[in-house]
Amino acid sequence: MSVLLSINNVCKQFGQFRALHNINLDIRQGEFIVLLGPSGCGKTTLLRLIAGFLQPDTGNILIEGQDISHLPPYRRPLNTVFQNYALFPHMSVLDNVAYGPRRNGFNRTDAHEQARQVLDLVGLKEFESRFPHDISGGQQQRVALARAIVNRPKLLLLDEPLSALDMRLRKRMQLELKHLQEKLGIAFVFVTHDQEEAMTLADRIVVMNAGRIEQEGSSNDIYRTPSSSFVAEFIGETNQIGYQVTGMNEIRLTINEQPIFWESHRISQQGVAILRPEHLQLVNKNNPIPAGHCQLHGTVSDIIALGSHSLVHLLVGEHVIVFRSTGFEGTELATGSLVCLSFNPTHLHLLGEAA
Ligand code: ATP
Repeated sequence: MSVLLSINNVCKQFGQFRALHNINLDIRQGEFIVLLGPSGCGKTTLLRLIAGFLQPDTGNILIEGQDISHLPPYRRPLNTVFQNYALFPHMSVLDNVAYGPRRNGFNRTDAHEQARQVLDLVGLKEFESRFPHDISGGQQQRVALARAIVNRPKLLLLDEPLSALDMRLRKRMQLELKHLQEKLGIAFVFVTHDQEEAMTLADRIVVMNAGRIEQEGSSNDIYRTPSSSFVAEFIGETNQIGYQVTGMNEIRLTINEQPIFWESHRISQQGVAILRPEHLQLVNKNNPIPAGHCQLHGTVSDIIALGSHSLVHLLVGEHVIVFRSTGFEGTELATGSLVCLSFNPTHLHLLGEAA
């Protein structure tokens, strides 16, 4: 797919405060990009720069090769869906959606025809004569979407559009949005601080931290090979364990004495290894330690029951190691239980290791 949007060396400062440091990002046609990061990391600022509500201090933004950095928002071939939907309260659902085509010079009949087509697409055909205050939050959200896509923009920007919805509706809307985006083929840039939402929606996640892009990649890439401690902590549960190189092709973790074969030479003498909780297994007489796996012993300090599974905290020396238990491993777990875990060392991901 060819590049639709290019953000090149963009910096943005508010007074003395640097909100964005040298951002470089390409977005391809039809791609679903999620900007993910904690509050204040600069996601909305980046979205507002793309939309044209803010101007970059340095750098430029191109759409299909054309520099749009200094075009006003309404002249950019994109549209924005805001968190609060921003519907016109005094207009019917149909007129809200037809507003864009009317502004673009279509007569009332044609504008209504276009609006009805997209209302059908978002499943709101029967609601066209209602007013925003007579429909639910989820339906208002869909009207806002319909209004944003009726002019067939090349790019749709969405700033936490689902955050006002309850959890169940939010999950349903995530899938609807994903399917709609695939059907339309419009590139979406979606802002959220919710990692699960990001993983559900994105073709590519852009993880931001303190005004910088920390890492970009598919959900799986980012989960399996995070580039930093920050990314590893931000995406899912994780164990961060210190390691030291102890010999040729050999490392040792701070949580046990066992030497681990490590082929790569491109690692620093010491650093941090990432081990996800689901890669640790309980050892008992039904589950012996597989050949080549490492083991560690500890005392259960906490059990967090999450329904389908529990996250169990194990005190290994001074370290807390988290593992995932389904409750069917054949070991009764309680606070204070002494347990043995095993893991395959190939599941360790060493930060900073060159590929
Ligand atoms: P959230 O998830 O809370 O919306 P965000 O990642 O979208 O956060 P931004 O809204 O982009 O964060 O803000 C990034 C930083 O820039 C914040 O520290 C914010 O206070 C600051 N900032 C944003 N807009 C302005 C402004 N107009 N004037 C001064 N500082 C600003």
